[in-house]
Amino acid sequence: MNLILLGAPGAGKGTQAEVICNALKIPTISTGNMLRAAVKDGTEYGLKAKAAMDAGDLVSDDIVIGILKDRIAQDDCKGGFILDGFPRTVPQAEALDTMGVRIDKVVEIHVADETIQRRLSGRRVCEGCGNSYHIDFKPTKVEGICDACGAKTVIRKDDEPATVIDRLKTYHEKTAPLKDYYAKQGKLVTVEGQEEVAETSKLTLKAIEG
Ligand code: AMP
Repeated sequence: MNLILLGAPGAGKGTQAEVICNALKIPTISTGNMLRAAVKDGTEYGLKAKAAMDAGDLVSDDIVIGILKDRIAQDDCKGGFILDGFPRTVPQAEALDTMGVRIDKVVEIHVADETIQRRLSGRRVCEGCGNSYHIDFKPTKVEGICDACGAKTVIRKDDEPATVIDRLKTYHEKTAPLKDYYAKQGKLVTVEGQEEVAETSKLTLKAIEG
């Protein structure tokens, strides 16, 4: 099954992607994680992407479409995949259609902006492997240390409150129109994000099965 997870930054797409990945045994492709790795490695497109990411803007369509195309061509995607954070603009969605990539379902995780602002202020990410945590909802076993690899967990630069406001604005302007795009194709299902992550996960899995 080829899935897209749609939702504002901080709506919990990454967490739900993990749940689906475990349930369906298909890989998650997060363009955000791939871009952060590229920035860290100082690759050419990492350098190009950094300024936009730090400012809460989107990276240009041609860069993200390029990295996505290379990634889904890999063998582990043959049995299906979950796209987390792609597409984020209508031209990116059109690029998938043009590439002939079949999308079975688009799951929107809907969370109110105020809730997102509260959530993102507590989010921490691992400097080493990119795992995501939350000081209240998903704390590390040892404060400030990643459970998976032992590296330090930090606040993402783009989770600073002022940047979050810009990212939400970008989401509403550029990404939210994708709801209409996929509703017209009969592929959109909306899940209301719950206070309890496990509750949202139940709804997400139900939405995929249904
Ligand atoms: P994320 O981890 O998905 O929130 O992505 C972090 C940042 O990476 C975003 O704020 C964008 O600057 C950039 N990014 C990730 N995916 C995309 C995409 N599909 N299109 C444009 N920019 C992206």
